[in-house]
Amino acid sequence: MRVIIAGAGPAGFASAHWLSKLGHEVILLEKRSVPGGKVSAWQDPDGDWVESGLHVFFGAYHNLLGFLGEVGLEDSFDWKPAEMTFAQPGGGYASIEFVQGLPAPLNGLFGVAKSKLMTFSEKLAMGRGLMKPIFGSQAYIDAQADITYRDWHLANGMGQSTIDKVMDAMALALNFQKADQVSAKLVLTALLHFAKETDAPKMGLVKGSPHERLWVPLIKHLRDRGVDIRFDAKVDTIMHDSASNRVTGIQLADGQTLTADAYVSAMPVHSLRKVMSDSMREHAVLDNLKHLRGIPVITVQLYYDRVVTNIDNLIFSAGTHISVYADLATVSPDYHKGTGSIIELVVAPAEKLFPLSDEEILALVIKEFTGLHPEAIGATLIKSHVVRIPNSVYAARPGVERYRPDQATPIPNFFLTGDYTQQEFMASIEGSIRSARRVVDRVVAAEQAGTITVPSLL
Ligand SMILES: Cc1cc2nc3c(=O)[nH]c(=O)nc-3n(C[C@H](O)[C@H](O)[C@H](O)COP(=O)(O)OP(=O)(O)OC[C@H]3O[C@@H](n4cnc5c(N)ncnc54)[C@H](O)[C@@H]3O)c2cc1C
Repeated sequence: MRVIIAGAGPAGFASAHWLSKLGHEVILLEKRSVPGGKVSAWQDPDGDWVESGLHVFFGAYHNLLGFLGEVGLEDSFDWKPAEMTFAQPGGGYASIEFVQGLPAPLNGLFGVAKSKLMTFSEKLAMGRGLMKPIFGSQAYIDAQADITYRDWHLANGMGQSTIDKVMDAMALALNFQKADQVSAKLVLTALLHFAKETDAPKMGLVKGSPHERLWVPLIKHLRDRGVDIRFDAKVDTIMHDSASNRVTGIQLADGQTLTADAYVSAMPVHSLRKVMSDSMREHAVLDNLKHLRGIPVITVQLYYDRVVTNIDNLIFSAGTHISVYADLATVSPDYHKGTGSIIELVVAPAEKLFPLSDEEILALVIKEFTGLHPEAIGATLIKSHVVRIPNSVYAARPGVERYRPDQATPIPNFFLTGDYTQQEFMASIEGSIRSARRVVDRVVAAEQAGTITVPSLL
């Protein structure tokens, strides 16, 4: 069977891997000249890597780690201790360290108890309040999809102060929006994984650029197996015949038309909506994709002439726009240059910052960064990059969970994969790989059921 997959992000690559492994002929189309989607990287004129975003991988990412293991890339990460280190105004750090040697959830609960980030009464309230998700079930977590994390937190006896100190930063790191906007389900899903599995909170950063460490070797692996991977191949329209209710082809922006037996969209939801034929929207599940809105985020890189942090891990901050960042020159071996820092920051909430110029965004980020790291005040900023992502992951707001589509659609030869589709995880790299596993199952089931091709009239 020939399958066209549109979108060479993590979900598109993983689907291409599994479908080609099953012996199918796979064409993978990517509109950009670089692979990896939201996990992409490209070089600036000096040859330094600009990344679409700072990416952290968790011990809980079993599907991703399994997939990378299958293609020989299991050694791509530098693993860091499980801890949340918060930079403090004026300098210094306070952290929550998962206690090594203790099983989950004790490692986390003792970590909170030992932390200097919170007062005794805040810790007590957190310990009590988090019992429900920790000892609860997925069904309990699913039932919290229609309220904000803030409302859930307050309703469970925890105060606004722990949102301000810890949970806003966590919500921003997970979904680029604060606790008063993000759905409780999203934050609780992450907490549940950390509470159930001792190694889940272990954090890994790619040893260098995702381009060199992940995508280039993966592309070689897939091409060696016969996968036809095409860059600068932008899908313009997914052609649909309403009489037979089948996708009949993919029209590319350069005018070419490609056909296959099955079609898989691995594009982000906002891109898919742009290229669907109008008749596809007659299916409610596809029309409802309009409720899944991409959230804006900005990535900033600051190159300093000297080392301005000494933390070999992620750094969080509370009450700023730089909720999470890392010094790539410290955390990633390929970036070790021995001279200065390369600070990569996730800037969120970013919606109100988008109208600002790059210079204005940099001024804000540098002010907040030097407020936390006074060492940077005397350092020279050699260069910087600002990357704007207007539609990143879908905004996991209360009430939108029900619009996440299954990977099989009402159009029998058209399938969906990507972090926004239904899977047990939040929108994340692990979520995108889980969705890829599910889409492959759906394609195989449809092929076996004989529903992909139009029944012959003869
Ligand atoms: C700043 C930032 C930081 C993040 N940090 C983390 C993190 O620390 N940990 C984590 O797990 N997740 C993180 N994420 C989320 C993670 O990047 C995404 O969940 C993941 O990349 C989704 O993968 P995907 O394959 O579903 O979609 P994408 O990565 O969006 O890939 C979709 C692909 O489709 C292509 N495409 C779009 N339109 C077309 C078209 N018309 N024709 C052909 N191709 C098209 C795109 O160019 C892209 O390559 C972060 C995201 C951002 C933006």
